[in-house]
Amino acid sequence: MLKAGSGICDARRSLAAPVICVHMAEHDPQHIAFPKLDDGQIAALAEIAVRRRLRDGEALFQAGESDFGFFVVLSGAVEIIEPSSGDPRTVTVHQPGEFTGDVDTLTGRSTAVSAVARGDTEVLEVSSDDIRRILSEWPTLGERILQAFITRRELLVASGFLGLRVIGSGTSRDTFRIREFLARNQVPFTWIDTDTDPRVGELLRRFGLSEADTPVVAYGSRPLLRNPTTRQVAEVVGLRRALAQKVYDLVIVGAGPAGLGAAVYGSSEGLSTVVLDEDAPGGQAGASSKIENYLGFPTGISGAELAGRATLQAQKFGTWFSTPSVVAGLEFRNGHSVLRLDDGERVSARSILIATGADYRRLDVPGRDRFEGVGVYYAATPTEA
Ligand SMILES: Cc1cc2nc3c(=O)[nH]c(=O)nc-3n(C[C@H](O)[C@H](O)[C@H](O)COP(=O)(O)OP(=O)(O)OC[C@H]3O[C@@H](n4cnc5c(N)ncnc54)[C@H](O)[C@@H]3O)c2cc1C
Repeated sequence: MLKAGSGICDARRSLAAPVICVHMAEHDPQHIAFPKLDDGQIAALAEIAVRRRLRDGEALFQAGESDFGFFVVLSGAVEIIEPSSGDPRTVTVHQPGEFTGDVDTLTGRSTAVSAVARGDTEVLEVSSDDIRRILSEWPTLGERILQAFITRRELLVASGFLGLRVIGSGTSRDTFRIREFLARNQVPFTWIDTDTDPRVGELLRRFGLSEADTPVVAYGSRPLLRNPTTRQVAEVVGLRRALAQKVYDLVIVGAGPAGLGAAVYGSSEGLSTVVLDEDAPGGQAGASSKIENYLGFPTGISGAELAGRATLQAQKFGTWFSTPSVVAGLEFRNGHSVLRLDDGERVSARSILIATGADYRRLDVPGRDRFEGVGVYYAATPTEA
């Protein structure tokens, strides 16, 4: 398919075929990822936003930060910089009418990019709560922003984005544990295999490490993590954060298809909703390479994609996810349910929904557990391959 912005389309435009190119531009990922808001949309956002003036070089947010707003450029420009390779590169420069953000504006995870004002710049800042509200309550504008967020992430990953680095052996259980956790939680990362990658020795030396320290997780300018627990990795990327000390309307235990469905319906009805999962959204379905019998997907869908879409849909309506969060106990106090996590954290709820699915029986073979993650697997996704 031709795309606007490709040489052929530009040539056709000069051959006076503008209608074809305008139509095709609607399908161009660049066009979808970086749309301009019209005056009416900017005026509507201005009603709920704060105006901010920035000097040249002033940062709006830095890679690694989380929970900041959504910015619309009114004048000047905002450069988006991706620093994960150690050699910062420009992703785009937002012009007046354009806006910042990607899916992590909704997930609350740490952002992969930094944003810096170029020239004297004025922006509208919309809070992350308000942007979620807009996505679910203002259909036309909400859809435009959400499509842009999703497409930006796809373009970033396709552009060779390195993201978080996991340095470790393909025959190490801990390396597999971390890779599997990141992949199932859809955190972009690059795995550097110490067994096969010739750059490894040099890379480890540069960080002042040896192979004995692996697996090592490197994330932006943060301190390196040496053989971290899954929870430490989750905290660094923003998947696991302390939950609010309040009574939630609905707490869902388990983020398989059942839990994700309940999260979408609960939060879209305005319930304050939290989903706790000991591993990642998707549950068993997340391990399926193709699901052919899920309603609404006539050509099938991979479990990872189904989980990713459902998670984003729930987050759009304000659902809060926390992984890994292992629910270890349930008590009833003052008319509320209180769930206890395995690390002692407690979450209170007016109603709870337990959707913990099934545990598969494992092979009854001596020493099996030593080989789980290093030869014995329970799924066939790219991580296991
Ligand atoms: C490889 C594979 C392929 C499959 N393919 C298909 C298919 O093509 N079509 C089909 O119809 N079905 C398929 N299935 C079955 C389907 O995936 C399941 O029926 C479905 O996932 C069940 O959904 P669920 O939400 O009830 O539970 P689950 O998917 O089991 O999710 C339960 C979730 O609860 C979490 N959890 C459990 N205990 C706790 C706790 N104490 N604290 C916190 N979290 C907890 C788990 O981590 C898990 O994420 C497949 C299953 C697998 C494994």
